[in-house]
Amino acid sequence: MSGGARYLVTGGAGFIGSHLCDRLIGAGHRVICLDNGLTGREQNIRHLLSRPDFDWLKQDVTAPFDVPVDAIYHLACPASPLQYQRDPVATTRTAVLGTLNALELARTRQVPVLIASTSEIYGDPAVNPQPEAYWGHVNPIGPRACYDEGKRCAETLTFDYHRQYGVAVKVVRIFNTYGPRIHLDDGRVVSNFIRQALTGAPITLFGAGAQTRSFCYVDDLVEGLIRMMATPPACTGPVNLGNPEEVSIRALAEHIRHCTGSRAPLVNDPLPQDDPQRRKPDITLAQRLLNWAPTVPLAEGLPVTIADLREQLCPNHSDSVC
Ligand code: NAD
Ligand code: UDP
Repeated sequence: MSGGARYLVTGGAGFIGSHLCDRLIGAGHRVICLDNGLTGREQNIRHLLSRPDFDWLKQDVTAPFDVPVDAIYHLACPASPLQYQRDPVATTRTAVLGTLNALELARTRQVPVLIASTSEIYGDPAVNPQPEAYWGHVNPIGPRACYDEGKRCAETLTFDYHRQYGVAVKVVRIFNTYGPRIHLDDGRVVSNFIRQALTGAPITLFGAGAQTRSFCYVDDLVEGLIRMMATPPACTGPVNLGNPEEVSIRALAEHIRHCTGSRAPLVNDPLPQDDPQRRKPDITLAQRLLNWAPTVPLAEGLPVTIADLREQLCPNHSDSVC
C-alpha cells in the first residue's frame, strides 16, 4: 500500500508490534495501535504517542471494536510461555475471540487482515525443519495448549472467514524472534539468558539444553510481515517466517556468555512439560512468494539486543552491574 494508508496494529505496544508501528509510520502511514498493555509497554511506543498519525486504543482485543482502517495486522496475544500460562483461560480467549474480532472488522470494512500465528502450532514436531504442510504434533490438554490450540483455532477461523465470507486473509507462522524491546522479565530464553549473564546470576538451562530453536532478528521479521501484507489477495499463506539458523539452547547460552563477557555459571533446571525439542523453519515458501530471507545472523543481532537489555536493566548505566 502506498503512503498515507490507515493500519490497525493489534498488539502494537508489544515487542514485535512496536517495531511494526515504527516501520509503518516511517513509511508515511497512519497507525492505530490496539493494545491493553498486558505484556506490552508504553515505553515501546512512547516516542509515537504525541504524533498526529499515531493513536493508542487502550482496550482488550476480546471486546469488539470498529475503526476505519485500510488493513489490519493482528498481533495481540501474549507470546512468552511464562506469560501465556499465567492465565491460560484468558490466553485462549485472546487467541480465539481476539482473532474473531479482527476478522469481523476485516469482513465489515472489506480490508485485508494479517494474522500472527506461530511455530507453536507445530507443537513438539516430528519433522525437522517444519514446512507449512506439516500438521503438527500438539498436546491438546497440556500447559502450552492454551496458546498452541488457541492459535490453531485462530488459523481455522481465519481460513473459514476466507472461504465463507471472502475475506482477504494472510497467515504468517512466526518462529522465535528476538531483538531490542524484548521485555527483560518476560521469561523467554533470550531475555532470561542476557539478564542472567549481565547480573552474574546462574544461567538457567532447562533440561540439558540440547533442545534447539532458530532465532530471527526482529527487523527481518517485520520485513517479512510487510512483504506478506503486500501480496495479492489470493496469497493467504500460511507462510513460515523465521531464521533457519538452528542452535541448541546450550550453544545460545555460551554465545551470550561470550558476547557479554560474563562468568555466570550454567545450571540445569527441569525441562518444562511439552517443551518442543527441535524447531527450525523451512522458509522455501517465504523465499519463493515474498523473495524474503533473514539477513541478520545471531552474531550481529545479539550484541544489539544485549545493549538494549543492559539499558532496560539499568537506565543510564546507573547500577554497578552495568
Ligand atoms: P508481546 O507479548 O511483546 O506482544 C503482545 C502484545 O499484545 C502486547 O503488547 C500485549 O499487551 C498485547 N495483548 C496481549 N493480550 C491482549 C489483549 N487481550 N488485548 C489487547 N492487547 C493484548 O509478544 P510479541 O513477541 O511481540 O508477539 C506478538 C505476536 O507475534 C503474538 O501474536 C505472538 O503469538 C506472535 N509470535 C511471536 C513470536 C516471538 O518469538 N516473538 C513467535 C511466534 C509468534
Ligand atoms: N529455556 C531455557 N531457559 C530459560 C528459558 C527458556 O532453557 O530460562 C528454553 C526453553 O525450555 C525452550 C527454549 O529455551 O526450550 C525457548 O524457550 P522460550 O520460552 O524462549 O520460547 P519457546 O520457543 O519455548 O516458546
